Amino acid sequence: KLSVRLKTVAKYVPNGARIADIGSDHAYLPCYLAKHQKIESAIAGEVVEGPYQSAVRNVKAEGLTEMIEVRMGDGLEVIHPGEVDCITIAGMGGTLIANILEDGKEKLSTVNRLILQPNISAISIRKWLLENGWELINEEIVEEDGKIYEILVAEKGDPKRPYDNTIDIQLLMGPFLLKKQDEVFKKKWLLELKNWQRINKQLEQAAQKPETIPKRRELEYKIKLVKEGLHLEE
Ligand code: SAM
Repeated sequence: KLSVRLKTVAKYVPNGARIADIGSDHAYLPCYLAKHQKIESAIAGEVVEGPYQSAVRNVKAEGLTEMIEVRMGDGLEVIHPGEVDCITIAGMGGTLIANILEDGKEKLSTVNRLILQPNISAISIRKWLLENGWELINEEIVEEDGKIYEILVAEKGDPKRPYDNTIDIQLLMGPFLLKKQDEVFKKKWLLELKNWQRINKQLEQAAQKPETIPKRRELEYKIKLVKEGLHLEE
């Protein structure tokens, strides 16, 4: 059974796509897409031996070696130019995902959709997309086994389109997620808010330490952004 998290990623893969799933681990996502006839082909990329072997094993066991090729390598280096039109990267930190995209930029010329699922720091991805000509076209937020995940979908286009004069809030919390205001979204940010307020109070009590001031400024700014994003009174 594929997780709700990866099913949500799968939902945004265009029919007939040639995908690369980077950091594929067991290759669950490409196997699911191939079995459901959603894709033409897939490359499952892995940089670590164990997960790579596990991907190879699963693809064989599912009888999908004709459609899915498992390749060992770092980030987008496993893709040959022009080979894929859609890239999925799921289950890693947002900073790592943004670095993988940045390092493999030249492989993106034939790619027209990115589906990215950061475990933390979605802001790093939104910033990278904005600076690199990718337009965020949708976002989802899902909860599974007590964890909350964001899924970001981007296409080549006008990277500024989803943003307005509240861009600092939108980069942090997601322009589409802010509009939808799902229960899971509210839950995530109320938890973050509580956490930041707690840390801020601790720093306040450790007072008069000048080195805590920039950290407190930053926390207070993020607290302000999240309160605005959730439409909470001051
Ligand atoms: N994508 C799967 C999912 O969402 O369930 C697996 C997520 S797993 C937590 C992250 C995987 O990414 C690990 O198997 C790790 O080896 C791989 N990984 C990390 N950095 C990578 C990189 N630069 N290139 C390729 N794979 C990478």
